[in-house]
Amino acid sequence: MTRLLIIGPPGSGKGTQAVQIAKHFRIPTVSTGEIFRINVSHETPLGVEAAKYLDDGAFVPDHLTNALVKDRLLDADLQPGFLLDGYPRTAPQIMELDNILASQGHRLDAVVELRAPDSELEQRMLRRAKEQGRKDDTIDVFRHRLDLYHRETHEVVAVYAGRGILVSVDGSGDPSAITTRAIAAVEKFLATRVSP
Ligand code: ADP
Repeated sequence: MTRLLIIGPPGSGKGTQAVQIAKHFRIPTVSTGEIFRINVSHETPLGVEAAKYLDDGAFVPDHLTNALVKDRLLDADLQPGFLLDGYPRTAPQIMELDNILASQGHRLDAVVELRAPDSELEQRMLRRAKEQGRKDDTIDVFRHRLDLYHRETHEVVAVYAGRGILVSVDGSGDPSAITTRAIAAVEKFLATRVSP
């Protein structure tokens, strides 16, 4: 049973790495950004509400995001473990996740932080904008998302570092090399925790 988080700035390839890491550990990924985008494209009530924030590169309000995650984490397919991608991003979201996990008698095993220089993140976003056409991949919205990451999510990283479960990974370079580095780092970390 492995319960993981992945945190990384926009353009860090967080979604791509999440899928590969989850495959390795045989656990499903839960990506809040992806869930929001699906709801936006289906024009569900949540999607209509969330679209206002996604289009501007702002965070969806905590109460909406927390309710969504709480609901999803109770699903049977996630009981053997999961990899959360893009959540938590704020201090109230950390508290909510702590509460949800504690109510199930669970805790996080490790938090993967992908690091890459801003200049590389911007280059990747511009490439992705051409390939995927995500509405929030314009230079202005991207810079806003990056700024929010530095301001808000930095705190999330600090909290997990304080708990001693942060695994920082160099997220620059070739995606498959990053995957190999990330998996090796998490495996090593989990091994040291299991056998002190
Ligand atoms: P990225 O991290 O590359 O910006 P994501 O797919 O993780 O992309 O998120 C896309 C958007 O979805 C965010 O800009 C935000 O509007 C919304 N979102 C995703 N996760 C959260 C969260 N935990 N809290 C608030 N908003 C979120």
